[in-house]
Amino acid sequence: MLEESITKLAGVGEKRAQALADLGIETIEDLLSYYPFRYDDIKERNLAEINDQEKVTIKGLVVSPPVVNRFGYKKSRLQFRMMQDREVFNVSFFNQPYLKDKIVVSEDIAIYGKWDAKRKSLTGMKILGANQEGDFAPIYHVSKAVRQHTLVDLIKKAFTRFADQLEENLPLSLREKYRLLGRKEAMYAMHFPQDLNEYHQAKRRIVFEEFFLFQMKIQGLKQAEKSEKHGIVIAYDVDRVKSFTRSLPFTLTDAQKRVTNEICRDFLRAKHMQRLLQGDVGSGKTVVAAIALYAAVTAGFQGALMVPTEILAQQHLASLNQLFESVEVHTALLTSSTKPKERQEIIEQLQSGKIDIVVGTHALIQEGVDFSNLGLVITDEQHRFGVNQRQGLREKGFQPDVLFMTATPIPRTLAITAYGEMDVSIIDEMPAGRIPVKTHWIKHGQLTDALKNAQLELRTGRQMYVICPLIEESEMLDVQNAVELYEQLNDFFAPEFAVGLLHGKMKNEEKEAIMKAFKENEIQVLVSTTVIEVGVDVPNASTMLIMDADRFGLAQLHQLRGRVGRGQEASYCILVANPKNELGKERMKIMTETNNGFTVSQKDLELRGPGEVFGFKQSGLPEFVAADIVADANILEVAKEEAQNLWEQKNWQLLPENAGLLAYLKEMNKENQFFD
Ligand code: ADP
Ligand code: MG
Repeated sequence: MLEESITKLAGVGEKRAQALADLGIETIEDLLSYYPFRYDDIKERNLAEINDQEKVTIKGLVVSPPVVNRFGYKKSRLQFRMMQDREVFNVSFFNQPYLKDKIVVSEDIAIYGKWDAKRKSLTGMKILGANQEGDFAPIYHVSKAVRQHTLVDLIKKAFTRFADQLEENLPLSLREKYRLLGRKEAMYAMHFPQDLNEYHQAKRRIVFEEFFLFQMKIQGLKQAEKSEKHGIVIAYDVDRVKSFTRSLPFTLTDAQKRVTNEICRDFLRAKHMQRLLQGDVGSGKTVVAAIALYAAVTAGFQGALMVPTEILAQQHLASLNQLFESVEVHTALLTSSTKPKERQEIIEQLQSGKIDIVVGTHALIQEGVDFSNLGLVITDEQHRFGVNQRQGLREKGFQPDVLFMTATPIPRTLAITAYGEMDVSIIDEMPAGRIPVKTHWIKHGQLTDALKNAQLELRTGRQMYVICPLIEESEMLDVQNAVELYEQLNDFFAPEFAVGLLHGKMKNEEKEAIMKAFKENEIQVLVSTTVIEVGVDVPNASTMLIMDADRFGLAQLHQLRGRVGRGQEASYCILVANPKNELGKERMKIMTETNNGFTVSQKDLELRGPGEVFGFKQSGLPEFVAADIVADANILEVAKEEAQNLWEQKNWQLLPENAGLLAYLKEMNKENQFFD
């Protein structure tokens, strides 16, 4: 019944229903959970204690008849005098002449408005009804077609008629443990709290409910993955894997060893691996991927490595081939620009099992390439793939183990929500001998000096990246900017140093040629839009200069910064920015103060919210109504733990106290509302 259309409510016709739908309210339940975004404090106050310009409710006696003055066509002022504790003061309402009838001399009245202490007058905003409950008036996001009071009326009506149908969806034991209000009570109090405490209690309950239900779904998914029937066992050859690891040009860091073990343990179990591998830029994820892929190959499986861009695909293949020098592994590259004939060959060899490992862009899987025995899929720079794409991967009808790698350190609260269905491995240690990148923030006016310093650095034989401003609105402008910046820098550095340009509008071959020239040090200064953001590895580059750095997300800046500092010598990141406000300055300062990716993204999360951390619209984050994953992070942790606990009780679905929860989850999953 709660899913029924709001037209079931008296007073909601087709036109109003449309207006409500524009606010996202279509069903009774939508209406009941359309919570205020703030409340006005309408507690009655005494004149003596009110500050100038404070918004308050004052109750008193009307002592003079109301008078309306009109100016021009639509403007008017309604005035009268009120008395409280023998003190008389003026009240005015602007442009609401019709309130005149509600003001009756010698009667009590309560008015909400703004107090002017000097002039002893109240600018009225609202006349409060005699039956006003509580100390707060809810304020909703409304539209021209649906006004505050209309919405309040409708919500009250809906509660009167339908509140009985609001079934409890949290088990009693949890409600008792965390002293949570009942669902009905909490939802009502979200709209009409008696006092601040009641509001806090209601909010706590609703937030817990949202997180808990979401986590029940996520943990349920995880549980299903764990069930043995879905997965495969990758029985790798321990000795061969060990000797491969020994053949590497360096010893693994402890963190690399730990995550490799975590992955290998998953291989041996029949459960379906779904693991997120997090590691800061340069922490050495590629070699972990190589070991995992090789292990799968020793078990007779094929592996696929998917990345977001062509350039990155080529680079990864080159790195893998280098690492695989001492072992016999057949690799191939398959992207959308692979020539048809070659493509056909590769596909045939994948089907026949001749190729062990294929590296490619995401199109690799989407275009339905058949494998003879695919056992492991690894995706790099995972944050670029949304939840849907992740699920799409699974719906292709094969069941390989999956490892998602990301260099965007994801704060724990975000990881729980965005990737809650996965196990997480973290590389929290850099290979020995790295010197942290020194980050400087300069204003545009200091650019010439910075370029002179960069010139000195270039003269020591090193190379430099220059990142163009990020212009999302227009690709044309983006390219134009890049070209201009390239010309400026060419004027500055040529003929001593060669300057190259890389932007999104260039053809793949052109991009590749430029990248190759940079890698081989034929180009010393590479001017680029953010196409190089991910994964590029040129250890000789020691300076990263980012124009208009304040336009980027901090996590993105951190990624870009990670392009330098890959060699054994000191390197520099120069942020050029004139931020317009304190927030912008704060963000630049954070970058200069820390090199830790987790700290950077946690700060970005706090300063700018979840959507911005990833720097991409499609981040796969669920939307919560009342809950906020930053502000309510503690509740999120608890809710996650409790959901996990409940799933671990094998028979939880049979217990009577969970009946409400179960029914609710079933209903919810029908609509699949968490994943757009
Ligand atoms: P990312 O995690 O950003 O993908 P890479 O895998 O590209 O990092 O590794 C960065 C660089 O560090 C590469 O040049 C790689 O060869 C090197 N590297 C990786 N692991 C180690 C290690 N244990 N010791 C020394 N160098 C390493
Ligand atoms: Mg990488």
